[in-house]
Amino acid sequence: MSRIRTAAKRPIVVLGAGIMGASAACALAARGLPVILLERHRVGHDLGSSHGESRIIRYSYSDPFYASLMPDAFRAWTKLEADTGSTLFVRTGALSFGPADSQFVPRVLGNLRHLDVPCRNLSPSEVRKIYPALTLPNGYVSVFEPTAGVLLAAKALRLLVELASRIAGSQFELREGFEVASLDLDGANPVVIGANQERIEAEKLVVAAGPWVKSLLTRETRSMEVTRQCIFHLKPPNLDDFRPGRWPVMISDGQDELDLFYSLPALSDLGVKVARHGGPACDPDRVERKISESDWAPVKSFLDQFLPSWADAERTDARTCLYTMTRDEEFRVGAIDRHPRVILMSPCSGHGFKFGPLIGRIIADLCETGMCDYDIARWSPNRVSASKRVSL
Ligand SMILES: Cc1cc2nc3c(=O)[nH]c(=O)nc-3n(C[C@H](O)[C@H](O)[C@H](O)COP(=O)(O)OP(=O)(O)OC[C@H]3O[C@@H](n4cnc5c(N)ncnc54)[C@H](O)[C@@H]3O)c2cc1C
Repeated sequence: MSRIRTAAKRPIVVLGAGIMGASAACALAARGLPVILLERHRVGHDLGSSHGESRIIRYSYSDPFYASLMPDAFRAWTKLEADTGSTLFVRTGALSFGPADSQFVPRVLGNLRHLDVPCRNLSPSEVRKIYPALTLPNGYVSVFEPTAGVLLAAKALRLLVELASRIAGSQFELREGFEVASLDLDGANPVVIGANQERIEAEKLVVAAGPWVKSLLTRETRSMEVTRQCIFHLKPPNLDDFRPGRWPVMISDGQDELDLFYSLPALSDLGVKVARHGGPACDPDRVERKISESDWAPVKSFLDQFLPSWADAERTDARTCLYTMTRDEEFRVGAIDRHPRVILMSPCSGHGFKFGPLIGRIIADLCETGMCDYDIARWSPNRVSASKRVSL
């Protein structure tokens, strides 16, 4: 991709080419604005939060605010599919379940009904009939949402960057291998300083650095924590029974914060995907990438209870991914108090991917006008987190 040479207009600098930075860059390019997208590694690398084959997209949120954003989030993906001429969404449906005394399923159901999203309560015996491999204990409740599905994550990220380049031509510059060492926020315009000492002055700076945001905007991200996640792909017997069309996404709420698991159907011969939502705090530059048996143990015990035919299946892949958690699991998106030209873009806490293209558009609005069509006060980078969970 060519270099932006014109000095007439300072570029908007987007720092980080995960799903968030790529979505913002693409939305900004579509507005005809000059954009430089900086990425320390190569687009699609597997050290951050956006890599891998798939992510869940669902209306099934227990928090009404995130549920209310979902119609626009889905529309933004449909538009991206049209703009790229590619399939990025595979409809599978989603089954959310939990113990009868958890508020999760009733809240999800309430939000789905409020949004007029088709859905159905299923008892454990009904679940057993439809999905014989899944054992829900008596006393569990569940809700099925047929509109949910899976996003083709790696493909989406690659196509967003290609689309930005196609739309904007020489107005868009991707610089892979460019590591931002620090930010100079003392002047009227923010300046990024590369590890190679290069300085780039930005009209606006969008910081979409994922788990590394803490080292760049320390003040605004004090209460954020990076956690290590482990994802497993398995090949259970009768793999074809677990492909889209026959098997849905599953979200399991448990008794406590670490008792939360999800699974995705088999999109390829890698097999089904299963993981625990939650993990220990870590430093993104020193995190243990090797998966051990102790990482597998909680997932195995979940499978032993709910999906026994998966518990001893061949493990085809196991890798780490990073969450950037806020205590309340809310996103952090917006201009920072100490510099109005710096916008933090951190839709994080393990549930941001589905909002990438929609929040990309929000970022473009914020860059252009300082406003957007949504009330995102609760995402303010300048507020202090409460302690609650919104991602489910
Ligand atoms: C295991 C796992 C499962 C998930 N499942 C779902 C799901 O099912 N549904 C869903 O909606 N969401 C899900 N999420 C959340 C979602 O994937 C993340 O919210 C999203 O990927 C965050 O993207 P990002 O662009 O902010 O971060 P990243 O993808 O980490 O991108 C940040 C980029 O910034 C670059 N960077 C950082 N610092 C610098 C620097 N100094 N100089 C230059 N470049 C820099 C990094 O190299 C990186 O490429 C999941 C996340 C994980 C980890």
